[in-house]
Amino acid sequence: MQFIDLSAQYQHLKQRIDKRIQAVLDHGHYIMGPEVDELEQKLAEYVGVKHCISCANGTDALQLAMMVLDIKPGDAVFCPTFTFFATAEVIAYAGATPVFVDSDARTFNICPQDLERRIQTVIAQGKLTPRAIIAVDLFGLPANYPELEQLATKYNLKLIEDAAQGFGGEINGKRAGSFGDIATTSFFPAKPLGCYGDGGAIFTNNDDYAALFRSYRVHGKGKDKYDNVRIGINSRLDTIQAAILLEKLAEFPTELIARNNAAAHYNETLSGSYITPYVPQGYVSSWAQYTLISENRDAEMAKYKEKGIPTMIYYGTCMHQQTAFKYLGHSDEEYPTASKLANSVFSLPMHPYL
Ligand SMILES: *Cc1c(COP(=O)(O)O)cnc(C)c1O
Repeated sequence: MQFIDLSAQYQHLKQRIDKRIQAVLDHGHYIMGPEVDELEQKLAEYVGVKHCISCANGTDALQLAMMVLDIKPGDAVFCPTFTFFATAEVIAYAGATPVFVDSDARTFNICPQDLERRIQTVIAQGKLTPRAIIAVDLFGLPANYPELEQLATKYNLKLIEDAAQGFGGEINGKRAGSFGDIATTSFFPAKPLGCYGDGGAIFTNNDDYAALFRSYRVHGKGKDKYDNVRIGINSRLDTIQAAILLEKLAEFPTELIARNNAAAHYNETLSGSYITPYVPQGYVSSWAQYTLISENRDAEMAKYKEKGIPTMIYYGTCMHQQTAFKYLGHSDEEYPTASKLANSVFSLPMHPYL
């Protein structure tokens, strides 16, 4: 049994994907070919936003967001401590200071109460300029955007949705990728919507941001890539990956149903033995991971291993515990909920062909 079975998915979609890849090989527009435009339009439509800008991976998508928002040294950007490294990495890479926030114990997502406390602390200390929040749709469940949007407005902060895991999730019918000022996602193969390599995308309703994203992703281009009006990067989605994603996106709604069925079956079977994932009223998870809490994690994982069922730990190390962020000088006492989660969570196999 595989943790995420990409080959079962490929077998199911083989004819369609092979045909799409062959079409790219035939026309030969490997960079920014017609499939890239087609995919951006379909993704924007699916998510329900005005602009989709594809790029090379989910980390670049976040980095480009830092560039578009002009995040720089002296700025504070708030993000959850319980997340994948890239969320916090791009803040530090921009020269700004990541301010880590504790988790909500039930959803595992950024805790709005702790966020507000930390925003007020940064303001009171007067050393950093609070600029933005990066919220993460952890394990597929959208963060608490109704409350986060209120805090962003109250403190005049930009809100970024890191939907690398959340693509396909919803809050009251509004899709992940449509929250905040800018949303980003990843098409890393293991994500809910993955390609066959690296890929990513940015979503926004803001026309000025969209124009800046399109410039920054191709060397800060002006009228073309040999007219450079700002310092950018090279971060494009390959045409072949766009072709693969077009077929995977067409299948995605069906796959989401299968993921939800698998999660429901897990819930029914396991709720007596573990704390099973919590999905608040009105929320839909894309089930990037199915994550349990157990006080005896090691023993539990060993039991699954004996039966040939792979398990994984997402995440065993919070951002405030990472070696790379030691310079910020944090302790577990500042992040009681997230530190406890890092010691007790483990994830079961989850994919639409389970
Ligand atoms: C995977 C992931 C990213 C980074 O995406 P890549 O495409 O691997 O660069 C960023 N944030 C979160 C929460 C992720 O899970």
